[in-house]
Amino acid sequence: LASREAHPESSVIDVSGVKIGGGNLGMIAGPCSVEDRDRMMRIAESVCESGANVFRGGAYKPRTSPYAFQGLGEAGLQILREVGDRFGVPVVTEVTDPRNVELVSQYADMLQVGARNMQNFVLLTEVGRSRRPVLLKRGMSATIADLLMSAEYILSEGNSNVVLCERGVKGFDPSTRNLFDVAAVPVVQGLTHLPIIVDPSHATGRPDLIPPCALAGLAAGADGVHIEVHDCPEEAKSDGPQALLPEQYKQISHQMRLMADLL
Ligand code: PEP
Ligand code: MN
Repeated sequence: LASREAHPESSVIDVSGVKIGGGNLGMIAGPCSVEDRDRMMRIAESVCESGANVFRGGAYKPRTSPYAFQGLGEAGLQILREVGDRFGVPVVTEVTDPRNVELVSQYADMLQVGARNMQNFVLLTEVGRSRRPVLLKRGMSATIADLLMSAEYILSEGNSNVVLCERGVKGFDPSTRNLFDVAAVPVVQGLTHLPIIVDPSHATGRPDLIPPCALAGLAAGADGVHIEVHDCPEEAKSDGPQALLPEQYKQISHQMRLMADLL
């Protein structure tokens, strides 16, 4: 169902009115974790003004350590929904547990399946049964074929609204958090009609590398860019060191628009 051969025309995914794919860019921005309400409002106001058309934030965080901040749960979903309604922007958030798909679907416009869960087949099946669009991130050790098979799990349950995301794969060089596989963008586009966006935040883990990699992703033909933004990275509950400041997002947002216009 995902194959370009069977469906030559590029799919356009509608996320509560915001289109992604077929020339429409999904500009997703927001903090790694949903934090307190006022902070979320401040960040959303700024990124939306800069041109983001989907707001993100995790209420359920898949953390390496069980002692690290795990997310605000349903309270975080409520905050995220409020923010989305206030600024008239769809919201995307990660669902980590098949038992929470229904709950998260009540609050979010789009469900994110994170890299660590890309091959959680029970979760894929469950989001496939939901009618919410899905942002499916490539696993850090997953091949492109694996990613497409995971998308197939969702499509085969009847949910055809899948956006793929390249967020870096495991490399050997600790200079960057992951290895940004920019070539995956045109490779994926050759194989599937589904849109693919890039996430230079998780791919590099370094704010200074986000702008060049965001532009590289668009130059490679990506259908959008996902960037983490925080107004006080030192206080962020997760992924602070890789966050862009709102002013920095504004700058790269402008450059991304210029790049998109060139293409
Ligand atoms: C995230 O989006 O905050 C996240 C955990 O991403 P990934 O699954 O790509 O690591
Ligand atoms: Mn993150």
